[in-house]
Amino acid sequence: MVAIRLARAGFKSILFEKRPRIGLPVRCGEATGNRTELARFLPIDEKWISADINAARLIAPGGRILERSLPGIGVVLDRGRFDQALADLARTAGAEVRPDNEVIDLIEENGSVAGVRVRDHASGRSYQVRAAVTVGADGIECSVGRRAGLTRHLGLADIHSAFQYLIEADDLPLDTIEFYTGRSIAPGGYAWVFPKGPGLANVGLGIQPSPAGVASPQELLDRFVAGRYPGARIRATVAGGTSGTKPLKTMVADGLLLVGEAAHQNNPLSGGGIMNALEGAALAADVLAEALSRGDTGARALEPYNRHWARTVGSSIHKNARLRKFFYQLSDHELDDLAAVLQGFTHRSGDNVQDYAEILKNALMKVPGLVWKARKLLW
Ligand SMILES: Cc1cc2nc3c(=O)[nH]c(=O)nc-3n(C[C@H](O)[C@H](O)[C@H](O)COP(=O)(O)OP(=O)(O)OC[C@H]3O[C@@H](n4cnc5c(N)ncnc54)[C@H](O)[C@@H]3O)c2cc1C
Repeated sequence: MVAIRLARAGFKSILFEKRPRIGLPVRCGEATGNRTELARFLPIDEKWISADINAARLIAPGGRILERSLPGIGVVLDRGRFDQALADLARTAGAEVRPDNEVIDLIEENGSVAGVRVRDHASGRSYQVRAAVTVGADGIECSVGRRAGLTRHLGLADIHSAFQYLIEADDLPLDTIEFYTGRSIAPGGYAWVFPKGPGLANVGLGIQPSPAGVASPQELLDRFVAGRYPGARIRATVAGGTSGTKPLKTMVADGLLLVGEAAHQNNPLSGGGIMNALEGAALAADVLAEALSRGDTGARALEPYNRHWARTVGSSIHKNARLRKFFYQLSDHELDDLAAVLQGFTHRSGDNVQDYAEILKNALMKVPGLVWKARKLLW
């Protein structure tokens, strides 16, 4: 998205992707915002939409079901095709796209990033590319940010460790996303069922890994699928981690900017990061276009990116990082109590359905034991 916008603004950009094919293999549950939100970034193409979502269902450990009809709340993507569509738009706008080319180091001059060293996997050759600015959009690996000293390896408490199957089965939801909670299902996280078209769904789970390691995400998922969808056929497997931590102190340095998961821009509570990465990229491109036009890509010139992000999406990330700490330490019994209150909880008509923190806060007031536990997190 950064390459698309900078190329459209007339700047030369090169996009490096270490894998041979853009977007593949998919490392994502693929559920994201709605068509209107996506259309702000690129024209909708039915080829990369697998399913429309019209409802959400949360299943408490004891089996209580909270269901809400949310027409058009989001879509489940075909992430492979979606990422390829983005790369095609970048190419059409004039950017150069180089798959199978891995950034292996940064070129630094006088304390500023002056470009990258790249390995072309096909030829085995390494080469340098100098640039006025380097954008680290390299996801959870975030080697660019680590080399520049903006990020570090994420600790166990900072990540969701996830495993997912694309399954084929009967009785899968068609347009409802499902979230399952409970320590025996996904300790420190949740399991999800995201429809991918008739008879198909991404079924996965993310947990907070612990050194004691009760069971691996794959073992937990095998148990979940065997219990919930016996006889399901597994069509694809995804293993990966996603960031569940606070925003970075700074996402910029002299000649460098980070975006997307590399900048910890995803929602720490859910682990979701597609929409936030697009938001971050659009904001980054605006700030970069201005900085490049003035010929100054120093950290101070890029600072507005930090400021705008902190004022917009960044503040929700802080809130969700606190919610994550709170939620995932609750016992199954406490989750069941909370679900019972939430089930009976009807918020005023006209409330913004996205303001889940407010809904939760009001619900928590009705569960005395939890009000105390949540006091530092929500107020
Ligand atoms: C199992 C799982 C399920 C998820 N489910 C969802 C979901 O349902 N909804 C949602 O919104 N989010 C979900 N996420 C998170 C989501 O996938 C990420 O937040 C999102 O992809 C971030 O986009 P990005 O562009 O920042 O990074 P990525 O999509 O990870 O892209 C980074 C790219 O950089 C490439 N790269 C890395 N290092 C280098 C290098 N040195 N040189 C060149 N290229 C490099 C990688 O190969 C990759 O293609 C999930 C994540 C996982 C692991």
